[in-house]
Amino acid sequence: MNLKICHMYPDVLNLYGDRGNILCLRRRLEWRGIDVTVESAGIGARPKLAECDLVFIGGGQDFEQEVLLDDLHSGRDEEVKAAIADGVTFLAICGGYQMLGEYYETYDGRRCGFIGALDLYTVGSKQRMIGNYMFTCTPESGGSTVVGFENHSGRTRLGPGVQPLGTVTSGFGNNGEDKTEGARFKNVFATYSHGPLLPKNPELCDFILKTALERKYGAVSLEPLSDEAELAAHGEMVRRLIG
Ligand code: GLN
Repeated sequence: MNLKICHMYPDVLNLYGDRGNILCLRRRLEWRGIDVTVESAGIGARPKLAECDLVFIGGGQDFEQEVLLDDLHSGRDEEVKAAIADGVTFLAICGGYQMLGEYYETYDGRRCGFIGALDLYTVGSKQRMIGNYMFTCTPESGGSTVVGFENHSGRTRLGPGVQPLGTVTSGFGNNGEDKTEGARFKNVFATYSHGPLLPKNPELCDFILKTALERKYGAVSLEPLSDEAELAAHGEMVRRLIG
């Protein structure tokens, strides 16, 4: 088996070690003897997303999100929408997550039209939502507890066309009000969780890998990995957050 991963905008959407998610995805495949290729697709690149199995988009500041708008609307937005509709697995973090929605409106009222692949929108707020946080994934997304770090001014509101990735148990999540965190639509996993997300949350990482592999090969069972260090880091954050 093999998996092709595309890392979109690594040159501008690369906050808080988000590229560590690519390393984690790669290692957890290689440790199981599954071949993996990673294509980095910065501004100006023309990756063929339809030929990818998993697309990763990291987070970025308001400025970076505006920098890539021209490139996004030069046709990459339509390609992302088509790939999502076709079931390609996506993992999108914070700014990358917001970008999949209808629009992002900055705190001072500048509205950036985004991809419109997911039924959601984001409005910047004066109060930034910052800190270590924790949420529980829905059963459809594996039901695992996730620990992470969030830093965003955007408050994201989900429309009826998407489900949350999970429910916040400590911290802000999508908007600090409705206890939702992230979004799920088809094979898209979107979250505010920086950190990077995946190394301290091996169960979620494997769920995402399984989703991508099963779209390509049908039913797949992933060989368990030891995960002592990963689970020790996970447990330490749970203790810090809820004692
Ligand atoms: N600029 C966006 C916000 O502040 C996303 C931030 C991020 O990716 N950490 O909400």
